[in-house]
Amino acid sequence: MNRQTFDEVMVPVFAPNAFIPVRGSGLDLWDQDGKHYLDLTGGIAVSGLGHAPAELVEALTDQAKKLWHVSNYFTNEPVLKLAKALTEATFAEKVFFCNSGGEANEAAFKLARKWAHNHFGAKKSRIVSCLHSFHGRTLFTVTVGGQSKYTEGFEPLPQQIDHIPFNDIEAARAAIGDDVCAVVVEPVQGEGGILPASPEYLKALRQICDDKNALLIFDEIQCGMGRTGDLFAYMGYGVTPDIMTSAKALGNGFPIAAMLTTTEIANAFSVGSHGTTYGGNPLAAAVAYKALEIINKPEFLSRITEAGNKLKASLERVVADYPGVFAGVRGKGLMLGLVMSDKYHGKAAEITAAAAQQGLLLLLAGYDVIRYVPALVIKDEHIVQGEKLLRQALDTWLKASA
Ligand SMILES: *Cc1c(COP(=O)(O)O)cnc(C)c1O
Repeated sequence: MNRQTFDEVMVPVFAPNAFIPVRGSGLDLWDQDGKHYLDLTGGIAVSGLGHAPAELVEALTDQAKKLWHVSNYFTNEPVLKLAKALTEATFAEKVFFCNSGGEANEAAFKLARKWAHNHFGAKKSRIVSCLHSFHGRTLFTVTVGGQSKYTEGFEPLPQQIDHIPFNDIEAARAAIGDDVCAVVVEPVQGEGGILPASPEYLKALRQICDDKNALLIFDEIQCGMGRTGDLFAYMGYGVTPDIMTSAKALGNGFPIAAMLTTTEIANAFSVGSHGTTYGGNPLAAAVAYKALEIINKPEFLSRITEAGNKLKASLERVVADYPGVFAGVRGKGLMLGLVMSDKYHGKAAEITAAAAQQGLLLLLAGYDVIRYVPALVIKDEHIVQGEKLLRQALDTWLKASA
């Protein structure tokens, strides 16, 4: 098996790296040749506790020996424990489990429409979302997402979906009329380039939604589960949504996602309104319960803020020492973006490729942002080592492109 096998047998929707990771531990990753990498990608904000964390391995294998699957004709203990823990930890009173972020948003948008239809009639069906947002790849969620390159060629698309510029309160006021059933926003845009919402913006959306009887949906699939230093980003903003979606780090790589809401809104669904075969299966629930228990501790969350500040300072030193290459650093907690300058527009991918050569794994967010969403358990020495490898990569790349 090698990278060429991918081109032979896989549907070509991804262009993975040339090397194939085979083993991971914490922030360390090794490929087929035994080459070591410092992994600062966190599996795209998924592996919050790093690769193969012992406590989750134990939770998974313990459950694997007991019960994997029982279907929705039955409930199971792990899922009830997880739902209780999530409702105790958040604003939510009810949880729906599924398997991916896209599915959680699909459930959220369907629920919002159903709720609005039940209370106000079928005309209240419009969904407003932000440009450059990302909400998943089902036809509904990709249409709600604010990146037309992902919907081109898939028409006809679901109707009554509008997009507004992110962080623009006036645009929100103009777009959110009485026919809007829901407004969806990522408190920190991930794929769109690591852009935090301003607190005023989220407060204004809350107010407008209240005025217009629209539901406010926060997509915390990337920015939740500790990533910003709060268990969920809405807590740091002090703005409570009506529906929130979680996935990615919820299962630390074991597929699970959740849609959280209030009892009043959840009651718009009834038996048969929506469903899933795997959602809330005992294996995934056991892993997520343990992940939540570890992350939702004050010491763990305050260390995320501390590590985020250190990583930010490290990246700011790099910005200062390579004048003209970068425009700056932005983000929140351990969700940071190193932004390319205009002069180096479109070059972020060359830098991440050069970094991989040095044994440092980094991500992109769009064409001009190098994205840092490392495991939340990142240590100070990883930050120091990451800066050293990034500098080596930049030196090599600048020499080669001169
Ligand atoms: C990753 C992501 C999704 C989609 O999650 P999948 O598990 O890939 O379906 C949705 N919203 C946001 C903000 C994401 O980052």
